[in-house]
Amino acid sequence: MNFFQTTAEREQILLAPYAMHSAQSTGREYPETEHLYRGPYQRDRDRVLHSAAYRRLADKTQVFTGHMGDYHRTRLTHTLEVASIARTIGRALRLNEDLIEALAFLHDIGHPPFGHAGEDALDECLSGEGGFSHNVYALCLIRELEIRYAEFPGLNLTREVLAGQRARAQKQSGPSPILEVQVVDLADSITYDSHDTDDALELGLVTLHELRETCLVAEVVDRVLERNHDLEGRMLRKSVVHELIDWQVGDVLDHCGTWLREHRPANATAVHAAGFHLGVGSALEEKKSELEVFLHEQVYRHEKLIQQRKLAQNQLREMFLGFQRNPHWLPKRFQRRADQIGLKRSVADYIAGMTDRYCQQQYQRLFASNGGGGSVETVC
Ligand code: MG
Repeated sequence: MNFFQTTAEREQILLAPYAMHSAQSTGREYPETEHLYRGPYQRDRDRVLHSAAYRRLADKTQVFTGHMGDYHRTRLTHTLEVASIARTIGRALRLNEDLIEALAFLHDIGHPPFGHAGEDALDECLSGEGGFSHNVYALCLIRELEIRYAEFPGLNLTREVLAGQRARAQKQSGPSPILEVQVVDLADSITYDSHDTDDALELGLVTLHELRETCLVAEVVDRVLERNHDLEGRMLRKSVVHELIDWQVGDVLDHCGTWLREHRPANATAVHAAGFHLGVGSALEEKKSELEVFLHEQVYRHEKLIQQRKLAQNQLREMFLGFQRNPHWLPKRFQRRADQIGLKRSVADYIAGMTDRYCQQQYQRLFASNGGGGSVETVC
């Protein structure tokens, strides 16, 4: 077969020296021969895309549960928005877009049903066993639980993608990761700050007037109205969300571009060794934090969400205990897994893999008929 260009040749032309080039990959846990025309990170991205855990993101809560309407983000559409913003930043900085996309598709794959409410409940259930973290569980999914290949367990992703996900799991404590990993982390926060603002406005949990109490939204509204002072209502909101993303991405590129021009790192390791931390400039960082505090207090702790949270957590706790009392209710592979890693962890691994809908169905089938509580969907 003849190809126009190998991955290495294409990357040599397109990527900056400080990007993580596919040719520098240190390979996979289980050695595999290189693909004829797909680079290693391109294969990683495709492996995540074709995994069951990735598809299940379609029916997992981001912030707002399924019955609250069909406008707001699911965990899957959030992931796609993260990938899109991360790719935009990555392309502008001449980083490895395949690696960025693999990391972005992967970044929330370990979220249990019912968003952070579900994660907190499982963490409490496993408090004597090391707790539960969606970032650690993502590693378990891609290294052990996904079954796609006869030769090895998991997806056998490259060491760079595994290291990127480990960096997410360690967060504060680890060294500064390569730029592709940092881009995805930052794109995640740009994405949720913007779309949670949009969703909360659409759902009527807050008004634009209230959001203008924050410096960031106040300035964004001023910028938008300066360009078009007739805007109001839904069109104003759309423009505000667009400007929120655009401002943050532009600021990251300014900030990071300045550092890269001054330091001219010779390769990905040099960025890593310099301890560079990718982010928006300090002025915007302060405004961004203020918006996050606002969203935390006025949206994530909104009465409607708190009610949802309590019901979801009660259900998960009940399921966690119920499966322990009746381990034969677990699928056979999780019964076998309980012998290796302990019953509690295996039960949590099983529950964490469920979509919101499947979790509800299992709860209704196995627990609600035995005197369990109400459904998460009965609240609103
Ligand atoms: Mg995310």
